[in-house]
Amino acid sequence: MTSRITHWINGKPWDGPAEKTGEVYDPATGQVSGHVDFASQSEVDAAVAAAAAAFPAWRDASLAKRSNVLFKFRELLAARKSELAAIVTAEHGKVLDDAAGEVQRALEAVEFACGIPHLLKGGFSENVSTKVDVYSIQQPLGVVAVISPFNFPAMVPLWFVPNAIACGNTVVLKPSEKDPSASVFIAELWAEAGLPDGVLNVVHGDKVAVDGLLEHRSVKAVSFVGSTPIARYVYETGTRHGKRVQALGGAKNHMVVLPDADLDLAADAAVSAGFGSAGERCMAISVVVAVDPIGDELVEKIASRMASLHIGDGRRTGCEMGPLVTRAHRDRVESYVEAGVASGATLAVDGRDHPVDGAAEGFWLGPTLFDRVNTDMSIYTDEIFGPVLSVVRSPSYDEALELVNSNPYGNGTAIFTNDGGAARRFQNEVEVGMVGVNVPIPVPVGYYSFGGWKDSLFGDTHAYGPHGIHFFTRSKVVTNRWLDPSHGGVNLGFPRNV
Ligand code: NAD
Repeated sequence: MTSRITHWINGKPWDGPAEKTGEVYDPATGQVSGHVDFASQSEVDAAVAAAAAAFPAWRDASLAKRSNVLFKFRELLAARKSELAAIVTAEHGKVLDDAAGEVQRALEAVEFACGIPHLLKGGFSENVSTKVDVYSIQQPLGVVAVISPFNFPAMVPLWFVPNAIACGNTVVLKPSEKDPSASVFIAELWAEAGLPDGVLNVVHGDKVAVDGLLEHRSVKAVSFVGSTPIARYVYETGTRHGKRVQALGGAKNHMVVLPDADLDLAADAAVSAGFGSAGERCMAISVVVAVDPIGDELVEKIASRMASLHIGDGRRTGCEMGPLVTRAHRDRVESYVEAGVASGATLAVDGRDHPVDGAAEGFWLGPTLFDRVNTDMSIYTDEIFGPVLSVVRSPSYDEALELVNSNPYGNGTAIFTNDGGAARRFQNEVEVGMVGVNVPIPVPVGYYSFGGWKDSLFGDTHAYGPHGIHFFTRSKVVTNRWLDPSHGGVNLGFPRNV
C-alpha cells in the first residue's frame, strides 16, 4: 500500500484528481513508497490565488502576531524533529543522524526569523531639513515562490519560508518531486502553529509547476535552489517576467591541504565532507588539492578511513552513509567512476566493491577515491553529486589557488593549514562565497547568509539571515513635514535640506 502525496492549498490537502503523478522511492529498498501529484497550471493558479487572497490580511498582521506564529512553529518543529528526520531518511536515503542535523540547521533559520520585530526596524532621521523628518520602512513583496532541490527536503524550504512569511509575504513552495513529503509535514506544522490559511501553500511537480510559477503575474519573487543549468534558467525566465529572483546553483568544492596541515585532521575532514549524505550536498568536498609533497601520505590516510565506512540503510544503527536518491542518479554517478578509470585517473578506492548493509535492490554505491586527477577529466569538470572524491596534486599554494579560482563554480571551499598567515591570504584571495579554515563544510550559521559566487548563484542576494530579510522586502522612505506656524510660501526650487 503506497501513499498519495498531494498539494497543500489554502490550509488543507488538495482533493482534486491528479492529471499526472510521479513515483517516490525508498532508496534503501528500491521500492516505490508513494505517488506524488504533479501540479497542472490550474493547480498552480489555485495555489497562487490562495496566497494572493491571504496576502492583505497577513501583510497587516502585527509583528507581535507574526512572531507568535514563528515561535510556536519553532516549538512544534523542535518537538517533532525526529519525525521529520525520519521522513527525510525514508525518501532521500541519508542516515537518520544526518537528517536530524539537517532539521537542526533548519531550526536555526526559524530562530533567526523569530526576531522579525527587531529585523524590520527602519532608520529614522529627525530634522533633515527644518521641521522635516525622514524614516525608512521595509514592506513585503506579495506572493513569493520557493523552489527547492531533493538533497535537503526540510532545510532548504526552511531557509526561505520563515523569513518570507515573517516579512509579511505569502508563499507557494514547490519542493523536489523526489522527496516531497517533508514539505507537506512542514506545512501541517505551520497550520498547527496558527499560520492563517493560504499564507503557505505547497504544490508538487516538475517543470510545468515551476514554469507556472515563473510566468505567473501574481508571483513577485522567486527563491530557487538546485543545479546550475536550472538555476540559470529560473533566473533568466523569472527576471524576464519581471520578478526578483535569487537562484542558487551547483558546486565543485575544493579543499586545499597545505604541507604544514595536520594530515589526520585533513583526512578526517575530507572523508566526512566527501561522503556524508553520499556526497549529495552542495557543500560536499569533491576535490582535495594536495600541495606537494604531502600527496601520497594524504591519499593513504583518506583511503584507510574509507575502508571502514559503514554503508547501509540509514534507519539502521551504525550506518554512516546511505544510498543515492534514485536508481537513475546512482547509475549516473557510477558512470563517472567508469569515466574516471577510462580517462587515466588512479583509482585509489573503488566504491563499486564496498560492502553494503541493506536490501539488495537499494540504490547503493560505495565511496570512491581517485588520485592524480587532471582538470580536463569529466570527474573534475562536472558536478557528480555522489560519493566520488578526486585528489589533484599541486606543486604550490599559488597553483592551488589558481585552480580554485579558475573553476566556474564558487560555492564553498576550505583550506587546511597551521599557518594563520596562509589561511588569511587564502580567505582574501579565493573567489568563493563560503570559506572554511580547517572547517570542511563552512555552512554559515542562521544569522549570517548562505550563498556562492560565479555559477553557484544567479542574482546578488544570498539565502537566509540578513540577506533573506533584504530579499523578501521592498524599502520605502517617507519624508514628513507636519504643519507648523513657521511654514509657508511657494518655492519652485528643488527641495534643499536647510
Ligand atoms: P534540480 O536542478 O534537478 O532540481 C531543483 C528543482 O528544480 C526541483 O524542484 C525540480 O523539480 C526543478 N526542476 C528540475 N528540472 C527542471 C526544469 N527543466 N525546469 C524547471 N524546473 C526544474 O536539482 P536537484 O537534483 O533536485 O538538486 C541537486 C542540485 O542542487 C545540485 O546541483 C546541488 O549542488 C544543488 N544545490 C545547491 C545548493 C546551493 O545552496 N547552492 C543547495 C542544495 C543543492
